[in-house]
Amino acid sequence: MLTILDSVDAYIYLKDTQGRYLFANRPVRDMWHVDMDGVIGFGDERFFDSTTVANIRLNDRRVLDAGEILRSEETNVVVTTGKRSVYQSTKLPLHREDGSIYALCGISVDITERKVAEEELRQYKDHLEELVDQRTGELVLARDAAEAANRAKSVFLASMSHELRTSMNAILGFSNMLRKDQMLLPEQRENLDIINRSGEHLMALINDVLEVAKIEAGRVQLECVTFDLGNVVRDVSDMMQVRAQEKGLRLIVDQSSEFPRYIQGDEARLRQVLINLLGNAVKFTQQGGVTLRLATRENTNQHLLIEVEDTGIGISPEDQQKIFEPFVQVANSASHAGTGLGLTITKQFVQLMGGSIAVESTPGSGSIFRLDLLMDAATEAEVVKATAIEKGHIVGLAPNQPEYRILIVEDQPENQLLLAKLMADIGFPVKLAGNGKEAVNLFQSWQPHLIWMDRRMPIMDGIEAMKCIRELPGGKDVKIVAVTASAFKEQRDEMLGAGMDDFVRKPYRFNEIYECLTRQLGVQYVYAGVSEAELEPEAKLTPQMLAVLPSELSLALRDALESLESERIAEVIKQVASYDESLQKILSKLVANYNYPSILTALKMTTQERRS
Ligand code: ADP
Repeated sequence: MLTILDSVDAYIYLKDTQGRYLFANRPVRDMWHVDMDGVIGFGDERFFDSTTVANIRLNDRRVLDAGEILRSEETNVVVTTGKRSVYQSTKLPLHREDGSIYALCGISVDITERKVAEEELRQYKDHLEELVDQRTGELVLARDAAEAANRAKSVFLASMSHELRTSMNAILGFSNMLRKDQMLLPEQRENLDIINRSGEHLMALINDVLEVAKIEAGRVQLECVTFDLGNVVRDVSDMMQVRAQEKGLRLIVDQSSEFPRYIQGDEARLRQVLINLLGNAVKFTQQGGVTLRLATRENTNQHLLIEVEDTGIGISPEDQQKIFEPFVQVANSASHAGTGLGLTITKQFVQLMGGSIAVESTPGSGSIFRLDLLMDAATEAEVVKATAIEKGHIVGLAPNQPEYRILIVEDQPENQLLLAKLMADIGFPVKLAGNGKEAVNLFQSWQPHLIWMDRRMPIMDGIEAMKCIRELPGGKDVKIVAVTASAFKEQRDEMLGAGMDDFVRKPYRFNEIYECLTRQLGVQYVYAGVSEAELEPEAKLTPQMLAVLPSELSLALRDALESLESERIAEVIKQVASYDESLQKILSKLVANYNYPSILTALKMTTQERRS
């Protein structure tokens, strides 16, 4: 029995009612480096420090005096040598036959190591929680900073676009208006055309930059409507065909029979993607051609596969990684006009549409851009027919139209004037207000039928003015149209939700303003037929005209046109003036419209005539 007790991995001992040891097994004796004689008859003070002795005594008394059984009591002990340990002890009383207690039996286990491990674990866990807390804190900070940056970007975007569009509205609007003046000298008209073309180009650039910023600020919302994809492909390829032919390139559309005609999606953005890819393919190809391949693929979903392949200059493997980044134009393209934003926008749109884009290219032989888009097919019946039909420009009101009073609320004098002129052109009486407050007063005194309401103005903005007017007598009947310079098309819903009747974005085309009057007041117009001069302003170049040029100059002109380098072309055309000024003007006009082929054809005929 004693041997068994000695071999157990625990301290087992008996104490009498005075706390003196009656027995201690081997592990106890080994710990204290004593034999049985060194234990029996001794109390705990021989082995432990005084605090420990006091604690042990308290526990022992509960057993010896009250007959309690203590289970798994944890006690911190310090032995006389100073070593600290933790014991887990079970102590029970031993009874005589008469029930009185004569001894205590104790079993203790040293759990110091376990405690240390537990403590380490606890600290580790606390630290882990601390780490998680810290990391979460950092993430929250980063998220807040990103959100703040995005908000700042959106605000910047909104105000930048407002500034830029407001000014562009005046520039494009007035140059357009001046162009209609019949008294203009040809040179003045050309200058105006340049202002207008540059303005349009600038506007396109602003739109691109804003588009990228909008995507980055997470403000782009894709539209989802049913549309005629076949039409989009035809429009875009027709447009590109012209550019391709100018450069003597073939443009082939290779469409599989499964490629759908009607789908659901964002028509404008898909059109933009196709224009960007085909535009680049034509731009970076000098010989051969461009193929637009249209097919489908089916796994669990239906996909559209669109490939644009060219036989152009190609893109090196390193550059293929970079071209989708904003403002990147790789070395090979330095001489070409562009912003380096087209592919960035393309990729972002494609990703927003849930698709992917990839490029494969061999420098010197060409490139293939591949799109894979998820497709939602649709039927013809679902296609919403586009209603806007370009009718040519408006010259006046149709007979028997009522006269409508128009109030223009706009703080920018240039834009005030532009709208006022547009209204005066169709003979409507106009009054001007420079802010919302003036608008409210004028509404009361003059009772206009329609109000063009700028969104942002000092003193009282457009929305507030509209709300005040709506509260006044007759305020619910007057048509109020928001005219905003916002970059966000989404603002339309916001404006209509706030109580506006309609919405026009700056810069506007004049017809957009006039069409809005038709929508809101039912105004009808007389449209001008397109004048012959406008239709064929450049049809006057004949091979005979070119015959006045010396053959070196004709050759130089041909080479310049074939090089497509606009400065070189301009240089040669300048020299034409000393032979024939009107010929120089005609050539300039043709070049401005990129109609190089007709000059080249005429040049070829002149050379043939010379030879024969
Ligand atoms: P941009 O054409 O306005 O410069 P993009 O973002 O559309 O800007 O294209 C970025 C660059 O990628 C181009 O400047 C050109 O270097 C290269 N690139 C794009 N498409 C082609 C192509 N089809 N062939 C060769 N290079 C291309």
